[in-house]
Amino acid sequence: MTNAHRKFWGWGTEDQTASAEERAFLGAALAKRYATALPTPVPPPKVEDIALRAPRLAVPSNLQRIATTDQRERLIHAYGKSFPDSVRMFQRHVPHPPDVVVYPESEADIVATLDWAGRAGAAVIPFGGGSSVVGGVECDVGDSYKGVITIDLAKLAGVLEIDRESRAARIEAGVFGPALEAQLKPHGLTLRHFPQSFEYSTLGGWIATRSGGHYATLYTHIDDFVQSMRVITPAGPIETRRLPGSGAGPQPERLFLGSEGILGIITEAWMRLQDQPKFRASATARFADFLAGARAVRALGQAGLYPSNCRLIDANEAAGAGAGSAGSLLVLGFEGADHPLDAWMSRALELVRDHGGLIVNDQPKEGASGHRLGAAGAWRNAFLRAPFYREVLVPSGLIADTFETAITWDKFQAFYATVTSRMQEVLARVTGRPGTVTCRFTHVYPDGPAPYFTFQALGRFDALLDQWRTIKEAANDVVIAAGGTSTHHHAVGRDHRSGYARECPPLFADALRAAKSRLDPQGLMNPGVLIDPADRVVGIRGAMRPG
Ligand SMILES: Cc1cc2nc3c(=O)[nH]c(=O)nc-3n(C[C@H](O)[C@H](O)[C@H](O)COP(=O)(O)OP(=O)(O)OC[C@H]3O[C@@H](n4cnc5c(N)ncnc54)[C@H](O)[C@@H]3O)c2cc1C
Repeated sequence: MTNAHRKFWGWGTEDQTASAEERAFLGAALAKRYATALPTPVPPPKVEDIALRAPRLAVPSNLQRIATTDQRERLIHAYGKSFPDSVRMFQRHVPHPPDVVVYPESEADIVATLDWAGRAGAAVIPFGGGSSVVGGVECDVGDSYKGVITIDLAKLAGVLEIDRESRAARIEAGVFGPALEAQLKPHGLTLRHFPQSFEYSTLGGWIATRSGGHYATLYTHIDDFVQSMRVITPAGPIETRRLPGSGAGPQPERLFLGSEGILGIITEAWMRLQDQPKFRASATARFADFLAGARAVRALGQAGLYPSNCRLIDANEAAGAGAGSAGSLLVLGFEGADHPLDAWMSRALELVRDHGGLIVNDQPKEGASGHRLGAAGAWRNAFLRAPFYREVLVPSGLIADTFETAITWDKFQAFYATVTSRMQEVLARVTGRPGTVTCRFTHVYPDGPAPYFTFQALGRFDALLDQWRTIKEAANDVVIAAGGTSTHHHAVGRDHRSGYARECPPLFADALRAAKSRLDPQGLMNPGVLIDPADRVVGIRGAMRPG
């Protein structure tokens, strides 16, 4: 992928956008929902619409080959892809772009760039696909840094080695999802890590954020596929050993999984792979109410069946996606490379029926297309298109965002009621009219689900950022207060720091800060994300600052 046509203000490339039919459908649905005509949308920005401050750093001669201060490049690397990122781009508000973007072609280039950053007193932001939705690649690092260097890993994108016997591969961190799968396919192998952002996110980004992918159960996070990794820290390289398992003390990989670029740059990893699946079974069920569906999902999660797909979608979200209005929808799927899955599916459907589910669609066992048909297919299509709808919603003044968490089953019912009612109350208070809050499960564990909430309300274009901040902070607050985690798979970044600070034991936060001081003594790496470096307080978005 080149950056020539990559949108700096939205998802994907400039030729990928909501179609005229989708715009018309959304416009009509929203006007009806909010009983008002929507304001004329603000057009998307052009590169020349936004004045950026002059770069504050002079690139040394040994790095000029791989560094750029091009305006489009600085814009592409200024923000991630969250709702507030999109708002600020449509508002043409980019006060803190990176000064320089570097595209290393080798680890030696990364070492040289970190050395330069140290000499220059500049912050360093590791950048994969830039699909962060939590402010993870933001360059607003405060005045104690002399500038910001963003290191984009896009040129380190190869599958370097394949160990067919152990079913693993050594892979460079900057590879995007489709290019990774294309390199594995000739070997009959797959990573099968498909976050919704798969097309525009990278292996290094997935590892650094503990991304959640394709599998609804068992292998929910990228963590489960990481065998070993290599990280370049400002204090030197760290490479962990390739092992199928080990009990030798705290596992070094664990320190870097979820480190969000604050300890160093992950350059490559040995990843555990799968054979391409040959057997699939899928089914769709309806439940009169979401909590009955949740009980069925708990039974499924605790039965040891491990479905690859187990997505419970509440009635409003299913209806909004065009997947019918007859209650909550459960999309269930099994897949594997070794044996037919009929027995697993039969038992799963028994459990669904035992909990009041109505099977509406039991797809052919070995067809790959079950999840693409009927209500499940309609929901899947809306899910894949949703990232493009933001560029219709934001310029019309809509607040539309999501948050995700995990909670144990014993607390789930009260949690769901509390979060939903608190969010409805805050949307109405902030915007002066009711909004919508919907929920689905993205992943399921024997001891609890990972609920994913989507909210929408009609705001005011010029006030969107402040309105969003108030709502987001209420979400952070209620999720932690009601017993959930600040994030299940979107990472902490800057936007979840207030929640993370409350759930992370203080002594552990001190230990993490000490590890950072050892690996990054000058506090150069991604300041403002996860924790503040020792002795520095970094600017993070307004109300998002932890107490
Ligand atoms: C439409 C959409 C859908 C999404 N769906 C999902 C989903 O299904 N599951 C999910 O988990 N997330 C999802 N996300 C969030 C995002 O895609 C993930 O956090 C993803 O893992 C980020 O990967 P990236 O390569 O884009 O990383 P970036 O956004 O570039 O970076 C993310 C963080 O990791 C750090 N980082 C990146 N690369 C490296 C590296 N090589 N070494 C060290 N640090 C690094 C960055 O500094 C930053 O803090 C979605 C986002 C969007 C916009």
